[in-house]
Amino acid sequence: MASGSVQPGRIRILKNGSQPSDGKVGPVVYWMFRDQRLRDNWALIHAVDQANKANVPVAVAFNLFDQFLGAKARHLGFMLRGLKQLNLVMEETLQIPFYLFLGEAEETIPNFLRECGASLLVTDFSPLRKVRNCKEEMCRRVGESVTVHEVDAHNVVPIWVASEKLEYGARTIRTKINKKLPEYLIDFPILKPPITKWILENQVTDWDAIIAEVLRKGAEVPEISWCEPGEQAAMEVLMGSKNGFLTKRLKNYSSDRNNPLKPGALSGLSPYLHFGQISAQRCALEARAVRKASPEVSDVQLIAFVMVLLVFATLFICFSFYLLFKAVDTFLEELVVRRELADNFCFYQPHYDSLQGAWDWARKTLMNHASDKREHLYTREQLEKAQTADPLWNASQLEMVHYGKMHGFMRMYWAKKILEWTRGPEEALEISIYLNDKYSIDGRDPNGYVGCMWSICGIHDQGWRERPVFGKIRYMNYAGCKRKFDVDGYIGYVKRFVSEMKKRKAENQLCGKPKELRS
Ligand code: FAD
Repeated sequence: MASGSVQPGRIRILKNGSQPSDGKVGPVVYWMFRDQRLRDNWALIHAVDQANKANVPVAVAFNLFDQFLGAKARHLGFMLRGLKQLNLVMEETLQIPFYLFLGEAEETIPNFLRECGASLLVTDFSPLRKVRNCKEEMCRRVGESVTVHEVDAHNVVPIWVASEKLEYGARTIRTKINKKLPEYLIDFPILKPPITKWILENQVTDWDAIIAEVLRKGAEVPEISWCEPGEQAAMEVLMGSKNGFLTKRLKNYSSDRNNPLKPGALSGLSPYLHFGQISAQRCALEARAVRKASPEVSDVQLIAFVMVLLVFATLFICFSFYLLFKAVDTFLEELVVRRELADNFCFYQPHYDSLQGAWDWARKTLMNHASDKREHLYTREQLEKAQTADPLWNASQLEMVHYGKMHGFMRMYWAKKILEWTRGPEEALEISIYLNDKYSIDGRDPNGYVGCMWSICGIHDQGWRERPVFGKIRYMNYAGCKRKFDVDGYIGYVKRFVSEMKKRKAENQLCGKPKELRS
């Protein structure tokens, strides 16, 4: 079995190649898909390990699909700008060539393997149907002697190690993940240039032309300017000295993360995690380091401190540590447990994006209420254009369309309202997934499918008091939001943001700069 610095549990053998007749071992190719980074990438580390072990060179290949789950300029621009940086740094620092192919990966990657005589194909892991089907087809198309390894470089605990089955909820997967963390939440080795150099000519990619083409084709959903793509920018968001999440914003995470008027309380890491421009394991390691640097203060200790010392300075310091400590725990719960629970769902539930994927109780209750009278019924077009009678919902839809990322709390309300205002749960699910995938910079992700399934089909949730339309699915309403945060403030904030965007867009167009907000 594969040996090296990657834990064997992280690697699955998708295909065992036969011994080549001439005994010659060819290069290693890493087909990069979900983990688009150089740093902290177990799949790349494994590919280099294997190449060094066999004394062969290694290359990285990336395939830009003609169509990938409806990705538009917003998604493809972000992705390709990140890859352009990666290409440069990888060739400069690691001397590993980067090949970009256009078309269907099940054709381009096997063709490349044939061309360079590769013996081992390494891929990273995604639970999504399209990628899994593509890998199956690749295994059929690559030569007899080619071995295929899949490395879970996305999750801290590899999905198949965390659990062998579809988990019911966070409650059931949490202990399983926590048990494995000491083994898997470890430091990454430093990657050095491979021993054997690549002999084929390196590909020169005209990134600017390719980016211009995807921007043109996907112009319907333009790029966003607030989120700088690439590994370096991702690390800045995590650890930056100006406004880094762990360095500057962490302490308010547990108290303010459900307040849509305080988006800065959230990490803002989802675009980078989605495109694999940062490793969740790196985020968890850094968060844990913050936690270790602060003395542990439990609730009881806090009260004891307060009662005994009654010194304001001490109280203040203890409370700050307490907040930090709580924030790290909450962040790790979202980043590791919730995120891996989403991957678990998509990996073990083939119907991860349809009503069929809901538990029996939820399907039953939703079907029992499918024909309940709705106060409003909206079409997909009305919803897409934010033309509902609910200004709060409209604001959240506009935040997603123009800003490219809806606040996490609003995402729940948004999806639940779609259930309330459409002809049934299937249609609600279809519309919510369509809109989320189309406009969210972090869309087309297991977290998105699971977010919609949680809101509409109650997965990873429990049954609640039965009510019209929702049945036993958890309900959310405007009044509830009003109790939680300043609803009018949020509506006003989105309005100002959207009009500013429109103004800047018009200015850019006047200046002959079609690139959205890139002035
Ligand atoms: P933070 O709170 O800072 O979280 C850090 C990371 O933890 C996130 O980037 C994410 O990877 C993970 N995380 C946080 N909340 C969740 C959660 N509920 N489930 C799983 N992982 C979580 N997330 C996406 O990444 N892409 C999506 O397309 C997406 N669509 C959603 C749709 C709906 C209807 C709902 C209810 C949730 C959706 N989520 C999605 C989950 C969650 O809202 C986002 O991950 C979060 O808002 C991203 O912002 P952040 O990175 O600043 O969050």
